[in-house]
Amino acid sequence: MTNLFNKHMQNATEINTNINVNDISHKMYQLISDLYPLCRSITGDGLRKTLDIIQKNIPLSIHDIPTGTEVFDWTIPKEWNIRDAFIKNSQGEKIIDFHESNLHIVNYSINIHEKMSLQDLKAHLFTLPDRPDWIPYRTSYYKENWGFCLSHNQLLELKDEVYEVCIDSSLENGYLTYGEYYIRGKKPDEILISCHTCHPSLCNDNLSGLALATFLAKHLSQISPSYSYRFLFIPGTIGSITWLALNEVSVNKIKHGLVVTCVGDSGKSHYKKSRQGNAEIDKAVTQVLKNSGQDYEIMEFSPYGYDERQFCSPGFNLPVGCFMRSPHGTYPQYHTSADNLDLVKPQYLADSFSKLLSVLDIIENDKKYLNQNPKCEPQLGKRGLYSAIGGQTDTKKSEMAMLWILNLSDGNHTLLDISEKSSLEFDLIKKTADTLLQFNLLKETT
Ligand code: ZN
Repeated sequence: MTNLFNKHMQNATEINTNINVNDISHKMYQLISDLYPLCRSITGDGLRKTLDIIQKNIPLSIHDIPTGTEVFDWTIPKEWNIRDAFIKNSQGEKIIDFHESNLHIVNYSINIHEKMSLQDLKAHLFTLPDRPDWIPYRTSYYKENWGFCLSHNQLLELKDEVYEVCIDSSLENGYLTYGEYYIRGKKPDEILISCHTCHPSLCNDNLSGLALATFLAKHLSQISPSYSYRFLFIPGTIGSITWLALNEVSVNKIKHGLVVTCVGDSGKSHYKKSRQGNAEIDKAVTQVLKNSGQDYEIMEFSPYGYDERQFCSPGFNLPVGCFMRSPHGTYPQYHTSADNLDLVKPQYLADSFSKLLSVLDIIENDKKYLNQNPKCEPQLGKRGLYSAIGGQTDTKKSEMAMLWILNLSDGNHTLLDISEKSSLEFDLIKKTADTLLQFNLLKETT
């Protein structure tokens, strides 16, 4: 029995083979460290440089969409680039320096070089009084403005004097840049993996998702998956809107999808369901988290969060959920300078990576079968399918798996459905189905 279960099936996609997740987790962490210093935004050179670095691992296609391009109800904004920014006190000492932390600048700040009083300057300063050592992350993409972010302690030290304020930035016609990587599988049906690339020096929110997607793509390109995979490395919101606008005719190929973000912190795994709520991806992630032996949380869809908002807008309603550890806004370091290289750890990246592999393993191997002997139970004993020694727990589970599969293989239930109904792990259901297939008790159906 056991040897039959272990027999390699030619029709199976082995997602988990030849992989050293520990090794990959250190590579993910290294990639995060390499990307951390760059000042990313929704457009500009920091974003391009980020995609260049990812390209050293996977051959991304780079797309440049010009400023002014209409994408549904939105317009591609002007491209923003920044070279320098500082605040100097009356002695000419730099008290805030962009080169020390790119979070010091409100992202998309317009060019300015002026002298002003503390009073006037304060209208453009942002701090976190509750976390006086941390620098907040702020943006002003769609309203032309400028500002500095600093720790509250720094603000308290500012004297009532005249300051020199300089932001050497440009906001000009240019491009919105995104990266795309397509892996051709055995069938044209696609699995979409999307991550946002627009946050500057923030590790968990942004870089952990980027790193996981990069190494997941690299791994999948080395095996021969059944599904085709499409990886998107896009600026948040405007990136997914742009991609959907440009690819509207082919989105029906997407059968499953995940937005991946905040996957490197110590928090428990969270999964936000797709708008459909009961899509195969929703069931697969739920099954993996349930069987992980760890605490987890499944969240219903809501129209707030990451790019699942766009993929799950009613005009698309794609089966795309959001895979995270600590969700946005729920951990104190979120959108602050404390979302740094200490918050993210290789062990948590490894755990997130393994869970995603298990999800894809289910999706890749989920099939529908037809019982070839549907009138009453087939006699399993005469085929040698009942163990000689009854009563052992594993044996009992295998026998229950056989009975469940035979009973529910009516063309309406997938293996994942059967796993859910029987409360038996997908892996056991899959291996048992392979055995029943070998004994001609099942036939694959679509
Ligand atoms: Zn964010």
